[in-house]
Amino acid sequence: MAKQPLKYKFEKLQFCKKCQRYSVLTEEKCPVCDQHYKKLSRLIRSTFIKRIVTETLWYVVLIGLGIIFAPSKKDMNTTLVAGSIFFLGHWVLTFVFLTSEYYTLLKKKLREDLRQIQEGIRFDFHRASEDSKEGRLQEALDKLQEIGNLVDSDEVKIRQVIVLTKAAIRDDVELELEKLIPTRYDKHFVIYALEVLKFNRAQVRKSCIAYFLHFRRNIEMDFGVGPLIAIADTSLRMKLYIHEFAGFIEEFLEFLPRERFIRLCSILDKNPNLEWGRLKGTAIRLIEMEYRHDPDFQAFFQQERAASRA
Ligand SMILES: [Zn+2]
Repeated sequence: MAKQPLKYKFEKLQFCKKCQRYSVLTEEKCPVCDQHYKKLSRLIRSTFIKRIVTETLWYVVLIGLGIIFAPSKKDMNTTLVAGSIFFLGHWVLTFVFLTSEYYTLLKKKLREDLRQIQEGIRFDFHRASEDSKEGRLQEALDKLQEIGNLVDSDEVKIRQVIVLTKAAIRDDVELELEKLIPTRYDKHFVIYALEVLKFNRAQVRKSCIAYFLHFRRNIEMDFGVGPLIAIADTSLRMKLYIHEFAGFIEEFLEFLPRERFIRLCSILDKNPNLEWGRLKGTAIRLIEMEYRHDPDFQAFFQQERAASRA
């Protein structure tokens, strides 16, 4: 799905007039004062309409004054015609640029109320944390997901990961691991990613593998090599990943299950023109050492193996 521009996302903000507080959540009423929220898009529209009404009134007053103080009937008619043309021209231009004018007002409002919006999001986040502490995990998740749609922060992602881990993953939960990858090392994320790996390997994509690779020292210190082997194993799912992470896979080659190693050898063997770095050589050596008499490996790398024995 195409990424929605930020200004459209911000349109979904709601505002409680009584508390003067913004919210990113989709609740209908403010939890503090029980008043109905107003959508930011509606607030902008009403500001826009107010401006048009004020401008129209000014035109009418100015044309009226021009007519009242006109020295002759001819000047009166000239004022009326010129004023009406100017007024109509302004209206036409306003309607032609209606959409761009709306977004100009939206951007202005977002700039002016930035601090208030940040405070509102902090309040929403605090409520999600309270839900999580008190065991209302689904409510906490819903709130965090709504916040996460607007705010790209590690704090929100990690909180989501903690709640998802607590909630225990079910098949019907839409797992979106990619969206939850933080920019810094976080143990909770590693635990969650490994949990997802057990249920749905397809969710562990390129950026997640790259995360494990980038923070491999931290992961090794906290969890040992197990998670790295699991990720290397997952990387074998696609030829593209094998090519991209060839060096990483090579390091853990001897720990891979036999079936996976067969699959890897098959891909390497079928694509002799691709540059696999040291991966191919290590795979051949491993076959020679561990699977020399295994019939499933006999078809792979026949020429290279014969040359290495010569
Ligand atoms: Zn309120």
